[in-house]
Amino acid sequence: MTVDIERVKQGIPNLVPFTGKYADPPDGDFIAYTGPGQFRVPDRLVIGYIEGDGIGPEVVYAAIKVANAAIERAYGKSRRVIWYEVLAGERAERALGARLPRESLEVLGRVRAFLKGPLETPVGGGFRSLNVALRQFFDLYANIRPVKYLPGLPSPLKRPELVDMVIFRENTEDVYAGIEWPYDSPEAAKIREFLRRELGVIIREDAGIGVKVISKFGTQRLARLALRFAVESKRRVVTVMHKGNIQKYTEGAFREWVFEVARTEFREHVVFESELGAHGGRVPPGKVLVNDRIADNMLQQLLTRTGEYDVIIAPNLNGDYISDEAAGLIGGLGVAPALDVGDWGMMAEPVHGTAPKYRGKNYANPTAAILALSLLLRFLGWREAADLIVRGVETAYREGYFTADLVRQMDEEERKTRVREVLGTQEFAERVAEIVAAEL
Ligand code: NAP
Repeated sequence: MTVDIERVKQGIPNLVPFTGKYADPPDGDFIAYTGPGQFRVPDRLVIGYIEGDGIGPEVVYAAIKVANAAIERAYGKSRRVIWYEVLAGERAERALGARLPRESLEVLGRVRAFLKGPLETPVGGGFRSLNVALRQFFDLYANIRPVKYLPGLPSPLKRPELVDMVIFRENTEDVYAGIEWPYDSPEAAKIREFLRRELGVIIREDAGIGVKVISKFGTQRLARLALRFAVESKRRVVTVMHKGNIQKYTEGAFREWVFEVARTEFREHVVFESELGAHGGRVPPGKVLVNDRIADNMLQQLLTRTGEYDVIIAPNLNGDYISDEAAGLIGGLGVAPALDVGDWGMMAEPVHGTAPKYRGKNYANPTAAILALSLLLRFLGWREAADLIVRGVETAYREGYFTADLVRQMDEEERKTRVREVLGTQEFAERVAEIVAAEL
């Protein structure tokens, strides 16, 4: 089955698609920042959206459909979102001659809250990641990835209900910042020469070179956000994931700097593992345990001691690995959402990429994009609509409606007992929107 995106768009209210030139929607208002991390949300809110490449348009419009239903159900006519299309990726290249055009960045700079479909990045060469560029441009320093098991989802774990984590991944630094040069570039030659002459470090002539940067500033602003979240939402444990035994002055320092914030700014709310002896080996009631684990061990413990992990703070690369592993425990990339947050903006996105082989096939699971919008609405303070979306997805699974990627992971018995109907991307979103609209 294929999907006609133009037809899908026609059925969606409050959509302002790009028609050749940007014009801000006259009947909506942008989120108003009053200070770092402080904002006011208007009742007729403009949220930007980037369709994305590959399966992007299919999952993005599916998510918008569900969000519209939830906002209407929660607030009637008193609140609504006007969805303002911003171009990036392939569509931007065709219409405006660049994958991340200046005009689009200007619009996003006004909108400040947007949903991004996945954008293609070639491996090994070609243009740099637009996803990374957007996160860096708007200084969206925290990539927040909740991973929670919803009943009915397939899982390789015996007790998948133990999966309820929120990963705070640093989003602007580490080797992920892309400060690197090909082995045969003049820049790599200069660095090799500098290291040899000034520091006595010998690097092979045929080595590409990347720089790993982790700063105290970058680490501590992420730590503050994660620890505040853990305390306010009464989570049990905050674990710092790092490889500080080997990379002492980047990942080791990351651990120290997170601990420093916990000790100096959250002292009355936290207890460290080293202090548990004084409390009979238990976490005192009302306190959040702050501990750390070395990355490789932690990747396996996520499988063997799943229930011990709760809030996780990780540098950029480790955070990327562990969140995909965690997603694999509850149905895979098709259900994993993310929210990128900075002091002056926020971007919701599915964790998955463009899955090009499924482009236009109405196959992709839209859950990740749907839940990404729920995260965005929750962060904006529209909690009722956010809750409705999550409940809608949960109910759809409970009633036996699944997309094919999830059914494929089930064994014969699970298929027989759990699956009522295997739905395409748009039909799954419509089912969730119907459930949301009918909520009492
Ligand atoms: P991917 O697009 O996430 O796809 C990997 C596999 O995950 C797919 O082949 C499919 O598995 C499954 N999958 C992903 N999303 C799904 C969905 N919504 N529904 C069902 N199955 C889904 O990763 P990739 O193949 O490594 O990357 C492809 C392109 O996307 C690259 O250009 C990459 O740079 C880009 N990318 C962008 C982002 C982003 O925009 N944030 C993130 C990651 C990758 P099966 O093959 O098993 O069916």
